[in-house]
Amino acid sequence: MLTVKILTAYPEMFPGALNHSVIGKALKQNKWSLEVINLHDFGFNRRKSIDDSPFGGGPGMVIRPDVIEKAVNHVKKNSNKNKLYIYMTPSGKTLKQQDLEKYSKFEEIIILCGRFEGVDQRAINILGFQEISIGDYVLSGGEIAAQVLVEGCIRLVPGVLGQSESILEESFSDDLLEYPQYTRPKVWTDTQHKKHHVPDVLLSGHHEEIKKWRFDKSIEKTESNKPDLLDNKNRKKK
Ligand code: SAH
Repeated sequence: MLTVKILTAYPEMFPGALNHSVIGKALKQNKWSLEVINLHDFGFNRRKSIDDSPFGGGPGMVIRPDVIEKAVNHVKKNSNKNKLYIYMTPSGKTLKQQDLEKYSKFEEIIILCGRFEGVDQRAINILGFQEISIGDYVLSGGEIAAQVLVEGCIRLVPGVLGQSESILEESFSDDLLEYPQYTRPKVWTDTQHKKHHVPDVLLSGHHEEIKKWRFDKSIEKTESNKPDLLDNKNRKKK
């Protein structure tokens, strides 16, 4: 079973989104487990502080390496599982679906959430954290980023999602975005009294034609929203 351990200065932000829907259900069914570690338990003075001002000057505060080491030693205890260490940071490698597929096969993932200006770089390097970003923008803490990573990873653990085919056909699975989806009503009359039809082919019952239409739409959508994925796809073909 995959165990996720979160190192954070804001433990009350967990399980947060991870307690809901399929991921939350899987948590309650012990298909994965979550442990949240408060960095302040490893703080260094009477006030259990965890941060200090940056050497070299500049605004903000930086989380100290000795605090992180103590927290890591604590989670390492009683566990010889196959572990992955991740530090959430906007200056990390951008998280991709392929990474989530790899992560979902580990026995234990330890995720460090930064705050303020981040974490002393020595702790990241010496303790072996991979630096991962969830996108090119800056949040004020790693907690939501960690929940994004965990949510994306847990849904790939076998038995968590109902229909495993839905994973195979999803966006990114073949360097393509997913085709558009439609449901009832067949004709939707909006509040301006305009009618909007579902594409005919989806109502035709011709499986081959539906498959072709969906593939064409996938290509169209990828070209318009994420052309870099198509470059990947073509490169792999060569
Ligand atoms: N001074 C840092 C930003 C710190 S943001 C810099 O310029 O790179 C504070 C914390 O929020 C970070 O330590 C990190 O844990 C988290 N965070 C912010 N944006 C993030 C992102 N895009 N992906 C992952 N974590 C992020």
